[in-house]
Amino acid sequence: MLKNIIKIGETMPPPKPRHRVRSDKGHVVIDKVGITFGKGAQRHAAVEQTSVEVKPGEFVCLLGPSGCGKSTLLNSVAGYVQPSEGVVTVDGVKIERPGPDRGMVFQQYSLFPWMTIRQNIGFGPRVTGAGSTADATADTFLGLIGLAKFANRYPGELSGGMQQRVGIARALANYPSVLLMDEPFGALDAQTRVMMQESLLQIWSEFGITVMFVTHDVDEALFLADRVLIMSASPGRIIADLTVPIPRPRSLDIATHDDFIRLKRICLEKIRAESIKAFDQQLQ
Ligand code: ADP
Ligand code: MG
Repeated sequence: MLKNIIKIGETMPPPKPRHRVRSDKGHVVIDKVGITFGKGAQRHAAVEQTSVEVKPGEFVCLLGPSGCGKSTLLNSVAGYVQPSEGVVTVDGVKIERPGPDRGMVFQQYSLFPWMTIRQNIGFGPRVTGAGSTADATADTFLGLIGLAKFANRYPGELSGGMQQRVGIARALANYPSVLLMDEPFGALDAQTRVMMQESLLQIWSEFGITVMFVTHDVDEALFLADRVLIMSASPGRIIADLTVPIPRPRSLDIATHDDFIRLKRICLEKIRAESIKAFDQQLQ
């Protein structure tokens, strides 16, 4: 009898994730934020007078030259960095520290190497008090990212693309309302990168979650985003806020779409101009 129960359990598909399609959560407001680092002569501004509103469920990409403050701005939403002026709120609550309502995915796969894949994904639920269902939640997300077979493996045994899928699953396992991604596919090869972009869009459309995604790849930004924000050379400000009106679902042939070509030209011109400024600043 017990054997039968276990067998049924084993063959049951993982429970469906709680989808939050068209939720009204995940409203990010960055209001007149300035961020400075260092003291005295070392003091420098990383982000200057920046205001951005991201609507619930919106997918926004942040583009800009290296060192312009993209990560710093994202970290202020994550709660890792405190603004020196202005305020960041998510759903009306001032951000003062990291919290389970905001999931973060970094470029470097930041999985715990001593934990199995299932333990890694279940980590968030365990520390936030949902320990009794952590393994079930982990298995749900393992199914979602197509890595159910790897539950008991360790991160070191997985490819970079697989580790990053686990990173995304781990960020989602707390059911955040905002997913923050800092060049998450930057270390992947071109083929894997495209597959990851497609699967991220699928996850996003299923969950209806707000995504803020930092990249320096214009094609990636235009493929993924509802809106692309371009930042100036340091100290970073938003110098362009472009709507990407290309219909969804998008496939890779959007590269021939008129809007794609038009927006790509604008993005490349602006980023080039800012990159030259950034380069000149480094020479001074
Ligand atoms: P980006 O992600 O656009 O490449 P960053 O946000 O990482 O840029 O950095 C913006 C600026 O802030 C850079 O000049 C960087 O050196 C500085 N910076 C970032 N984090 C810190 C920190 N923790 N302490 C001091 N300076 C920092
Ligand atoms: Mg960065």
